[in-house]
Amino acid sequence: MRIGMGYDVHRLVKGRDLVLGGVAIPYEKGLLGHSDADVLLHALCDALFGAAGLGDIGRRFPDTDPAYKGIESLKLLTRTYEMVRGRGFTLVNADATVFAQEPKIGPYHRQMAQNIAAVLDSTPECINIKATTTEGLGMIGAGDGIAAMAVVLLENTI
Ligand code: MG
Repeated sequence: MRIGMGYDVHRLVKGRDLVLGGVAIPYEKGLLGHSDADVLLHALCDALFGAAGLGDIGRRFPDTDPAYKGIESLKLLTRTYEMVRGRGFTLVNADATVFAQEPKIGPYHRQMAQNIAAVLDSTPECINIKATTTEGLGMIGAGDGIAAMAVVLLENTI
């Protein structure tokens, strides 16, 4: 068994779509980034890379590479899991928390878990997505950004 954790944060700005867990969420602002800036999936990628001993998302998918400009992060998660599988590991479960003052994430939990499970050859029961505000404190509380943390457990299946 191997465990990994990931953390990411992106700035919230006007004029961008908000995509979290591969779900387009109606909101007045979106996350700024080289890809679609899906902070939840980036945290998951980093947790997977960490558990498999494969480094981190910045090294694997550099934001200086035009190949990743505007890319859907579900594709990055797909490639990440291909690398993890290449090391002989399979996902046991994932647990993640989104830190956002707004919008409410609750209505989208289920679809996020389904999207993630589909990419990770898993089931929504093994992909737990939580959300919390920061009670109005700090950059997240001010609505300047959204953060996410993720933990995954892998098992060696070879
Ligand atoms: Mg990121």
